[in-house]
Amino acid sequence: MYQLIDAKKRGGFLSDEAIRWFIEGYVAKKVPDYQASALLMAIHCRGMDDRETASLTRAMLESGRQLHFNDRTVVDKHSTGGIGDKPSFILGPIAAACGVKVPMIAGRGLGHTGGTIDKIEAVPGFRTNLTLDEFARGLREDGFVLMGQTPDIAPADRLLYALRDVTATIDCIPLITGSIMSKKLAEGAEGIVFDIKHGSGAFMREPKMARTLATSLIKTGKRFKRRCVALLTDMSQPLGQEVGHSLEIQESIRVLRGEGPEDLAKISIELAAHMVVLAGKASGLPKARLLCQRAIDDGSALREFRALVQRQGGDVAVIDDPSKLVVAKMKTVWRAPRAGHLKSFANDQIGMMLTELGGGRHTKDDVPDLAVGFTFEAKIGAKLKKGDAMVVVHHHAAQAKLVAELEARFFRDVVRFSSSPVRPPRLITATVKS
Ligand code: URA
Repeated sequence: MYQLIDAKKRGGFLSDEAIRWFIEGYVAKKVPDYQASALLMAIHCRGMDDRETASLTRAMLESGRQLHFNDRTVVDKHSTGGIGDKPSFILGPIAAACGVKVPMIAGRGLGHTGGTIDKIEAVPGFRTNLTLDEFARGLREDGFVLMGQTPDIAPADRLLYALRDVTATIDCIPLITGSIMSKKLAEGAEGIVFDIKHGSGAFMREPKMARTLATSLIKTGKRFKRRCVALLTDMSQPLGQEVGHSLEIQESIRVLRGEGPEDLAKISIELAAHMVVLAGKASGLPKARLLCQRAIDDGSALREFRALVQRQGGDVAVIDDPSKLVVAKMKTVWRAPRAGHLKSFANDQIGMMLTELGGGRHTKDDVPDLAVGFTFEAKIGAKLKKGDAMVVVHHHAAQAKLVAELEARFFRDVVRFSSSPVRPPRLITATVKS
C-alpha cells in the first residue's frame, strides 16, 4: 500500500494488478482504513486516467455478484440526484410500456438529496428488499423491477463509499465513476441513460464538472461494451413542484395520468425516449418520444406502474387514488414578501429544510417522515405580486414553530428576487454520447 500511495501521490499511474490488489485487500480487511484513505485522497488530488478508472470499476464490479441477461432491451437510468428528483417513477413505467426491460436498483437519500427507495416506501407494503434472485426472475418475467441495493452487488463500493464519505473524497470523478458504473454493470443493464444534474441542488454544481463526469461514465461504459448516453440537466430548483416522499409519489402519478407539471413530464419523457432508443425499440429519438408520449396518453405507463406496485406487495389503492397516500394534515403557505421576479434558489438548502422537517436523515439510522414536504407554487422566472403563494409546507401540528423558523430562513438564505424579468433555466442543457 505504501508503494501505491506514494506512486499516486507523485502523479503516477497504477497498474490493473495494483488496483485489483487494493480493492480485494480492502474488501478482505487486509488493507487498513488509514492506508485506503490515503490512497483515495491521492486519487482525489492526482486523478486517474481512463484505463485506471475502468480497472477500478472492474475490480469493484467483480467484488460482488453480477447479473447477465444478454438482452439488448435491458436498459436502466441513473440520476446523480437532487431535490424533487422523481423521474424514475415515471420513466420506468413509460419505458416498460414501450417494451424496455428496466432493472432499477436504486438508493436511499444521500446528503441533501432524496432517495428513490425512501420515496417508493411511501406506498404502503411496497417491498424494496428483494433478493438478487427475485430481482433477476422479476426482470425476466415482468420486465420491470425496483429495489434497493443488496449486499452482494459491488460490496467494495459500499465499503469505499462509507470511507469516502468521512474523508472528503466523494467529489472525485474517477471514484464516482467506479462507484456508479460497478453497480450499474452488476445489475445487468446493457444500456444506461445518465441524468447528470448540475446547479445548486446537485452534487456537481458546475455544468463543466457534470460534463466531465458524463464523459467519464460514457467512456467507461464503452470499455465494458455498454451503450450509454448522458443528459446534463438543471438542478438549480426543485424538479416539478413537490418535495417530500408521499407528495412526490402523488406528483409522479399525476404525470403518468398526463396531468403533471411540464418540466417533470418533459425530462421523464426525454430520458425514457433515450432508453427506448438504446433498447432498440425505436429507430430514433423523435419516434421514441412519440411512443413515450403515447404510453402516457393511452394509460399503459400508469398500468405498468400499478402492476409494479402490485407485484412488489404495495397497496394499489393508493395508485388508483393517490389522495390515500399519507400527507401531513397541516398546510402553511409562505407568501412573497415583495413584488418581483423569482431569480434563484439555494436548492440544496431546500433538501436540508426537508430533513429538518423530518423528511430526511440526520443520522444513518433515522427513519424519514414520508408525510411532510413542500409544494412549490412558484419557480424561477415567476412574476410575483406581494402576498402571492410561493410554497405550501405540509407539516404536523406540533411543528408550527419550526415552520416559522424555516420560513424566515427561506426568505433570508434560500430564495432571491429580481426587479427585472428572469429567464427560467434550461431544463436539459446538453446530451453527451460516446
Ligand atoms: N452516487 C454513487 O453511487 N456514487 C458516488 O460516488 C456518487 C454518487
